[in-house]
Amino acid sequence: MTNPPIRIVIAGGGSAGWMCAAALGRFLGAGFTVTLVESDDIGIVGVGEATIPQIRLFNQALGIDEDDFVRATGATFKLGIEFVGWGAPGERYMHAFGNVGRDSGLLAFHHSWLRGHRDGVARPLGDYSLNDQAARAGRMQRGPARTASVLPDMPYAFHFDAGLYAAYLRRFAEARGVARVEGRIVEVVRDGESGDVATLVLDDDRRVEGDLFLDCTGFRALLIEDALAAGFEDWTHWLPCDRAMAVPSARTDDLTPYTRASAHRAGWQWRIPLQHRTGNGIVYSSRHMSDAAARDHLLANLDGVPLAEPRPLRFTTGRRRELWKANVIAIGLASGFLEPLESTSIHMIQSAIERVLKLLPGRSVAQSLRDEYNRQATFEYDRIRDFILLHYIANRRDERFWRERRETALPDTLRAKLDLWQASAQITREHEELFTEVGWLQVLIGQGIMPDRFHPIAETPSTDQIAEFLDILPKLNAREVAQMPGHADFIARHCAAPRELAA
Ligand SMILES: Cc1cc2nc3c(=O)[nH]c(=O)nc-3n(C[C@H](O)[C@H](O)[C@H](O)COP(=O)(O)OP(=O)(O)OC[C@H]3O[C@@H](n4cnc5c(N)ncnc54)[C@H](O)[C@@H]3O)c2cc1C
Repeated sequence: MTNPPIRIVIAGGGSAGWMCAAALGRFLGAGFTVTLVESDDIGIVGVGEATIPQIRLFNQALGIDEDDFVRATGATFKLGIEFVGWGAPGERYMHAFGNVGRDSGLLAFHHSWLRGHRDGVARPLGDYSLNDQAARAGRMQRGPARTASVLPDMPYAFHFDAGLYAAYLRRFAEARGVARVEGRIVEVVRDGESGDVATLVLDDDRRVEGDLFLDCTGFRALLIEDALAAGFEDWTHWLPCDRAMAVPSARTDDLTPYTRASAHRAGWQWRIPLQHRTGNGIVYSSRHMSDAAARDHLLANLDGVPLAEPRPLRFTTGRRRELWKANVIAIGLASGFLEPLESTSIHMIQSAIERVLKLLPGRSVAQSLRDEYNRQATFEYDRIRDFILLHYIANRRDERFWRERRETALPDTLRAKLDLWQASAQITREHEELFTEVGWLQVLIGQGIMPDRFHPIAETPSTDQIAEFLDILPKLNAREVAQMPGHADFIARHCAAPRELAA
């Protein structure tokens, strides 16, 4: 006699639900059934539009053709994020994907750059990043550099329409056997003995039973919080923004291959170019800015005509105390929220899926699996929080919101990183941390957090030698960028979305 299949139920059909469904449909064999329950009446948040390069690994693992995906989701390419006004009004810097500079032997590049900067012979840090230079020039290419073998490939991510993304993954998942149930969940029934979730009851009394449940119900967190009371760790004291308003605007000719995050007096505003429109939104602290003022600021700072009324969203920054409790794993907005400053939410869904697949339980869940999952997931959340917080703390802006950010008592993990940087220009990364040393470097320098010292080996060359070393790469980058096609031309050639997307 064969065992009956293990029943996995995904509650929710936003980006999180359909990403889970696509991956489980692709990787789980006949020993499992996968059912997704979503409510058309409730709908999805639908503003997750900017990503980081790891999404390409997800697409590759699923076997998704990249150009097909770009066409279907109205996507554009993304080489990094430009931060405007975060140090002080008028300042700007880029957190570009990929490497910055070239290490010399054991010495990380930035020590040489800091030496050159002190001696007045270094160019701006961004000149040493191919992604930064290509982004600023509005250019895009894939694959190896064409003009110099020492230059790296450019890592890239996408901006895409989150609604179209969910629809794309739905087609993918349903073609691989995932069953979709449409209906509103009105009750979550737990097993009297084990306390596990056993059944979701829908508004027309249909019942969906399962062995393992993925809670992808967004901010509602129906299973993990309403039913299981996993608890929420509130990080508002560190990251006080608690509201957003999103509005699409007409596409402009300037199809920038990067996200822009512009600081304003009580938060920041995003700009995300898609093929058929531009996504915009304002993130703000309701203690420092009224909804009406936020709406005015958002609409006054669009570079195309608005295509809809601004849509308000409310959130509390933080995460569940337990992301896997009983037989429920919270993924996506049900697991917590970090403002989209570094476009991390969709990546966190992806890494949660990887963890679920690696630590997939059988019919019953061992506590050690849950503990390991929660250890990894909370570590990821906490370190991304630190990185986002870094953007806020070293500002030189005058407004009350920004003054308060400078005075915030920091988490110990961030304090330790900053102390190490300040004393020695060293950046350490524990192996499960998402953001690399180079990511931290660009934000540290971009925010004007200069260390007291750099590595003593960087004092060894003469100033002329350092100047010569620092002169080469920006020139190579500029030559490489000059032969790249423009971003819009690149899309037109390889992966233009059908015209009807614009409708
Ligand atoms: C302002 C803002 C900007 C963002 N920008 C980015 C970004 O640039 N990049 C990025 O990576 N991420 C971003 N995010 C995060 C991103 O939007 C989410 O992580 C992502 O969309 C996943 O959402 P979700 O699927 O968890 O939730 P949702 O999209 O809210 O989906 C929830 C699902 O649950 C279903 N549901 C809820 N209750 C019930 C019920 N009772 N019965 C049945 N079904 C139910 C709904 O129908 C829906 O299908 C942003 C988020 C916000 C708030």
